[in-house]
Amino acid sequence: MTSPFEHFGTSAIHAGQSPNKWDLNQISPPISLSTTYKQSEPGVFKGNYDYSRDANPTRIALEENLAALENASHCKVFPSGLAAISAILRLVKHGEHIICAEDIYGGTLCLMEDVIQQIDGIEVTFIDFTNNDSMKKALKSNTKLVLFESYTNPTLKIVDIEEIATLVKNFNKDILVVVDNTFITPYFQRPLSFGVDMVMHSCTKYINGHGDVMMGVVMTNFEQLDNHLHLMQKTAGSIPSPFDCFLAMRGTKTLHVRMRVHMENALAIAKFLENSPKIEKVIFPLFESHPQHKIHMKQAKGMSGMVSFYIKGGAEETNKFLCKLKLISIAASLGDVESIIMAPLLMIPFTANEEALKKKGITPNLVRFSVGLEEKEDLIADLKQALEDS
Ligand SMILES: *Cc1c(COP(=O)(O)O)cnc(C)c1O
Repeated sequence: MTSPFEHFGTSAIHAGQSPNKWDLNQISPPISLSTTYKQSEPGVFKGNYDYSRDANPTRIALEENLAALENASHCKVFPSGLAAISAILRLVKHGEHIICAEDIYGGTLCLMEDVIQQIDGIEVTFIDFTNNDSMKKALKSNTKLVLFESYTNPTLKIVDIEEIATLVKNFNKDILVVVDNTFITPYFQRPLSFGVDMVMHSCTKYINGHGDVMMGVVMTNFEQLDNHLHLMQKTAGSIPSPFDCFLAMRGTKTLHVRMRVHMENALAIAKFLENSPKIEKVIFPLFESHPQHKIHMKQAKGMSGMVSFYIKGGAEETNKFLCKLKLISIAASLGDVESIIMAPLLMIPFTANEEALKKKGITPNLVRFSVGLEEKEDLIADLKQALEDS
């Protein structure tokens, strides 16, 4: 399934999309809704299509497209990002051990605590992936899988993917290393090239990019892992609808164009915020002031539209600022064409205590901004008026 095209943008538009695989040479892939396929004789199928849970032409077109974008030989899609992570975690059996980043996406944390630990009874250790000593201490003889995000949420800490993969594989080459690449996308960073086993995305974010599909994806270069993922689709029943696959495919065709503008807008906004007297601090990987800027430059070609910053003041000032925004919406999620902003501590129920959160940089005045594709001048004007007397 590896990309037949040299450049990302051409793959985004054409990989898996060849018109001659459809009956009428359709340039835009058909949404194939049929759940079953007529057999010419019992057991004789056209193109191995038997039942849509096992294989669906629209879904496979999307999987071929996404595989090309991560430069992977295999790819499987799931009905949400968390369904994709759940499918991956089914590789871990009772008695085995998982190491997970302590500041992983909140939904993944709940999955680990409420399902993997509580229901499956699997041991999970949560650590800081930017600290190699914590990793060395956490690795055990029964460790089966490690999971982390290379850009953490909401404080945008950056994990050195190659260093983690090397450290873990040196300890035991059979431990599976998995990266959630949602925040940066394959346009800017391809973790498989740094020695990890699987990459996943919440396609709900940048990959689809239009805020109208929930989906997840896992890419790998190992056939055995892909066979497991197919089992999770076909036998455990975790599949997205053909219509959603079509929408996600429409999204990926502009991924490269969108990411360039997300970065351009985010950079302009980060600079504006950096110079505002109302802002205490800006966290943006393209700035040299970012503590892991060097790691970013080593492993990524650019940055998405994610900017985090601290407003001067506390919960009250932050709340006032957010409520004054007119163009930018207060909402969960990220990676859409529309600009979305949130204050994690004011909007997400955290289980840790105030002191522990403060240590991680999660305070009431922390704001996470998913910079959209509106014209940057309009976004800056909206921020400016909202900051004026907040
Ligand atoms: C949103 C998100 C997920 C979960 O994806 P859903 O599609 O909402 O299930 C996982 N990881 C990261 C980094 C996310 O932002």
